Amino acid sequence: MTQTHILIAGAGPVGLVSALVLGKAGMKVTVLEAASALSMDLRASTFHPPTLDMLARFGLTDALVAQGLVARYTQQRDRHEGVVAEFDMTLLQGDTDHPFRLQCEQWKLTQLIKQQLDALPDVTLRFSTKLESVTQTAGKVQASVSTDGQADRIEADYMIGADGAWSATRRALDIEFEGFTYPERFLVISTDFEYADHLPRLSYVNYCSDPEEWCVLLRVPTLWRVLFPTRPEESDEYVMSDDAVQARLQNLLPQPQPYNTLHRTLYKVHQRVARQFRQGRVFLAGDAAHINNPLGGMGMNGGVHDAMNLTDKPLQVIQHGASPDLLDRYERQRRTIAIEYINASTARNKREIEERDPVVRKRTQDELRETAADPVRAKAYLRKSSMIDALERAESIA
Ligand SMILES: Cc1cc2nc3c(=O)[nH]c(=O)nc-3n(C[C@H](O)[C@H](O)[C@H](O)COP(=O)(O)OP(=O)(O)OC[C@H]3O[C@@H](n4cnc5c(N)ncnc54)[C@H](O)[C@@H]3O)c2cc1C
Repeated sequence: MTQTHILIAGAGPVGLVSALVLGKAGMKVTVLEAASALSMDLRASTFHPPTLDMLARFGLTDALVAQGLVARYTQQRDRHEGVVAEFDMTLLQGDTDHPFRLQCEQWKLTQLIKQQLDALPDVTLRFSTKLESVTQTAGKVQASVSTDGQADRIEADYMIGADGAWSATRRALDIEFEGFTYPERFLVISTDFEYADHLPRLSYVNYCSDPEEWCVLLRVPTLWRVLFPTRPEESDEYVMSDDAVQARLQNLLPQPQPYNTLHRTLYKVHQRVARQFRQGRVFLAGDAAHINNPLGGMGMNGGVHDAMNLTDKPLQVIQHGASPDLLDRYERQRRTIAIEYINASTARNKREIEERDPVVRKRTQDELRETAADPVRAKAYLRKSSMIDALERAESIA
C-alpha cells in the first residue's frame, strides 16, 4: 500500500501541530514555510486548559509549563478602580487535567514541535518555500511552489492550508473570507517594568475596561505585554513613536522614569470566517480559516483545536476504513465553532471592555462580580472562556 502524502502550507502552530499528529500516525507529510525559519514573533501568549490537554499527548504540555507561567487566576478589572472580578481556574478541576491558563509565548510551542518533527523520517519541513497556487483532481492535489525563486510542483493526496490570515491556499481556492476589519488597530508593547509591584492584586491575565482607553495586561515569563486600542485617525508612525508609546504607558501608570520597552507591534484586527473550510481534498485551518480580535486568547487555541479535529478525519478514513463523508464533518464542526463561539465571544469581549455607556458598564461589572462570587456561575463562565464548552459543542455536531 502506498503511503498517503499530506501537504501542509504554513509552519505556524496550526501547521506544525497538524504535521505532528499526521507524522506520528505514519503519514508522509511535507510542510511548506515561506520564511527561512520558524517565526519568533511575540503573538499568542495564552494556552487554554483544553489545548494543554491536547498537547499533553505529545509530551508538549510539560515542556511548555517548564518554560511558562501557570496562571491560576484571571481578572476583569476597571482601569481606574482595580479588580472587578477574579476567576479561580481551579474550579475547572474535573473538567480538564490542566485547570489553569498557561502564559507562554507561541514560538516556544513551534520550536518544541520542530524538535519532534526533525526526528520523524517521513516529515519534511521546507523553509523558504512559498505556496504559489493549488489545483486538484478527483484523486490528487497539485501545488505550485517556489523555493528561493526556483519553481517546483508537489503532488499530494490531501492538503491543509495553515498559511495564516493572508492564506495563499484560501485565495487559490477562491474562498471568500467573510466578515469585517475594525477601524482601529491594536498596539502591543512589551516592557520589563514590574507592574505587579505597583498595581494591587494584579494577576497574570488582566482585562482592564475603560470608556476612554481599555487595555490588557498579560504576563509572560520575562515581560509584561500591554495591549491598547489606537484611534483610527492616529498614523502608524505616531503610534509607534517613542513619545506616543511613553505617553500611553505613563497615562496607564505614571512613573518618574521612562518605561523600558522591548517590543512594539501594531496590527489590524479582523473578525472573519472563511465561507468554506473544505474544498475537495484541501482544508483550511487556523488563521487561514478564521481570524478574530485577541480579547480572550482564542486565535491560536482555536487553531490548535482545528488541527486536532481535522487531522483525525483523514486518519479515520485512511487507517480505520471510515467513510470519506467523515471529511465534511470537519467544516460542520469547526466552522460552526468559529462563528458561534470564537468570533461571537471575542466580539462580545471587545464590546464589554470598551463600553462607554455608564449604565451598561455598571450592569456588566455587577454581573461579573456576582458571577465570580458564585462557584457554580463562575465555573460556567470559565468553561466558556476556556473553550471547553466550544469543544463539547463541536463534538455534538454529527
Ligand atoms: C499580536 C498578536 C497577539 C496574539 N495573541 C493571541 C493570544 O494571546 N492567544 C491566542 O490564542 N491567539 C493570539 N493571537 C493569534 C495567534 O497568533 C494566531 O491565531 C496564530 O498564530 C495562528 O496560527 P496559524 O498557524 O494558523 O497561522 P500563523 O501563525 O500566521 O502561521 C502561518 C505560517 O504560514 C506561513 N505562510 C504564509 N503564507 C505562506 C505561503 N504562501 N507559503 C508558505 N508559507 C506561508 C507564514 O510564514 C507563517 O509561518 C495573536 C496574534 C497577534 C498578531
